[in-house]
Amino acid sequence: MYLKSLVLKGFKSFADRSVLPFEPGLNAVVGPNGSGKSNISDAVLWVLGERNAKHLRGQAMEDVIFAGSTARKAVGVAEVDLVLDNTDGTLPVDFSEVVLTRRLYRTGESEYLINGAVSRRLDVLDILHDSGLGTGTHSIISQGSLDSILQSRPEDRRALVEEAAGVLKHKQRKAKSERKLASMDAHLDRVRDVVGEIE
Ligand code: ATP
Repeated sequence: MYLKSLVLKGFKSFADRSVLPFEPGLNAVVGPNGSGKSNISDAVLWVLGERNAKHLRGQAMEDVIFAGSTARKAVGVAEVDLVLDNTDGTLPVDFSEVVLTRRLYRTGESEYLINGAVSRRLDVLDILHDSGLGTGTHSIISQGSLDSILQSRPEDRRALVEEAAGVLKHKQRKAKSERKLASMDAHLDRVRDVVGEIE
C-alpha cells in the first residue's frame, strides 16, 4: 500500500482544488515558509479521522475550512481525498484503490466516504486498523513531536520503533491471550474443586 495522491479543496490554505500526486518510496514536499507544507500533513491526519483541532494546529475544527484571504473570500466546505494504492491488499477490502474522503461544512455537518460511499468514521478506522496508518499511530510525526521523540526515554523510543515495525500489535494480542489463559486457569481450578467434592 502507498499514498498515491491527496486532493484538497477548501482545506486550510488550499482554497481551490489541488491534486498532489505521490510516488511509491520517498517523497518530499518543499516550499517557502508559510506556503502550506504542514497543512498537507494536517490534511492527511484529518482525513484519517483526527478529532482534536489542536492536533491540526487550530482552535476549533472549523479552522480547517479556508477562511479567506485578501484575494478570495472564505468557502463553506473543506474536503480532502486520500487515494491509497491497495494492489498489495494491505487494506482488507476488494479494491486495488481506496479513496478515503472527509468533508466538513461550516454549518457543522460532516461526512466520511469510502470509495464514494457515505461511511462512518468507525468504518474508516476499521479499514485502517492493522495497516499502520491512522491518527493514533506515529505514521505522521509533527515538527514538535519529533523533538519530544528525540528527547524521550529509551524505553519510550523503543515502543515507537516496535509500533512502526508492527510488533506492538502482536505484543498487545499476546497480552490479551495471556489474560484469557489466566482466566481459563482460574475456571479450571474451580472445576477441579467441584470434581474433587463430587468424588
Ligand atoms: P513553515 O515552513 O514555516 O513550517 P508551512 O509551509 O508548513 O510553513 P503551513 O503552516 O502549512 O506552512 O501554512 C501556513 C499558512 O496556511 C498560513 O499562511 C495560514 O494563514 C494558512 N492557513 C491556515 N489555515 C487557514 C485557513 N483556514 N484558511 C486560510 N488560510 C489558512
